[in-house]
Amino acid sequence: RSKELADNSFQFYTPEMHANSVERLRLETELRKALSRDEFVVYYQPKIETSSGRVVGAEALVRWRHAELGMISPADFIPIAEETGLIVPIGNWVLNHVCEQIRAWRDAGQPVVQVAVNLSAHQFRQPDLVERVEEALQIHGIDPDFLELELTESAVMHNAESAITTLMELHGHGVRLAVDDFGTGYSSLSYLKKFPLDKLKIDRSFVMDIDTNPASAEIVGAIIAMGHSLNLEIVAEGVENDAQLEVLKGLKCDEIQGFYYSRPIPADTFSGILRLGRMDGHATAAE
Ligand code: C2E
Ligand code: MG
Ligand code: MG
Ligand code: MG
Repeated sequence: RSKELADNSFQFYTPEMHANSVERLRLETELRKALSRDEFVVYYQPKIETSSGRVVGAEALVRWRHAELGMISPADFIPIAEETGLIVPIGNWVLNHVCEQIRAWRDAGQPVVQVAVNLSAHQFRQPDLVERVEEALQIHGIDPDFLELELTESAVMHNAESAITTLMELHGHGVRLAVDDFGTGYSSLSYLKKFPLDKLKIDRSFVMDIDTNPASAEIVGAIIAMGHSLNLEIVAEGVENDAQLEVLKGLKCDEIQGFYYSRPIPADTFSGILRLGRMDGHATAAE
């Protein structure tokens, strides 16, 4: 509350709002215990090469499995984790867990693909971020090629000068860098030529109506053309149907991610897909 009241303004709480703040406080309290209780799980959402239909990567997406509260979506706890700083240990856990998983796939002799880990703005600003990433790769003996980090525009634009240094270091270690939710930030595009980026992930809001709204198709087409001329790979997020896929194919979008192919799935299920090398049919079982 203290943040909202900092300007000494009065606030009125309806019973509903009160319930929300109680609920939020409970989540916060529980979130503090979640790591030691081992309640986080990482799901993997396949990324498909548009031209071949092959699975070429995955995005790691954390879930919180609480004994009483059930499965809690990142949309409900990542913001709290951000505000409380808990995102730093949680993010480190995800990073290490993913490296461990990549190692396990490799040790099992199955094909390994690049896995993308989301980095929150808060985590990105940690002075020891680069060391944490290096350490995770080293401990599990992972080729940095297999790790991609997804950052939002606002995370990197927050302090652009120090962000460049961090990104240069990460990239120097061989880790891939992607801009997440591209197109939703309001930053200038000039960072695209300064930052060592590999990929742009076009936000779902543009993909959602790409088959029905010519303006969205124009915007996505322009992002793809610009990205390609800057040697960036383009991923479309949130592809849910064939019509969207066809438009994206026509626009030469490199990779596709979305419920059309698969929802985020447990590691074991993803292993099965990796062994097949491609998606068999389309939507896989729901979470
Ligand atoms: P994001 O990084 O943009 O991840 C994509 C989100 O879109 C995921 O939601 C995914 O399940 C969802 N999605 C994928 N395809 C479709 C589709 O076709 N339709 C629809 N409607 N949604 C689709 P999820 O897993 O709930 O994660 C939400 C956000 O939480 C992520 O957005 C990311 O910002 C954050 N997040 C998740 N895991 C982590 C993590 O380990 N660390 C950090 N810092 N943030 C995370
Ligand atoms: Mg992401
Ligand atoms: Mg995204
Ligand atoms: Mg997002």
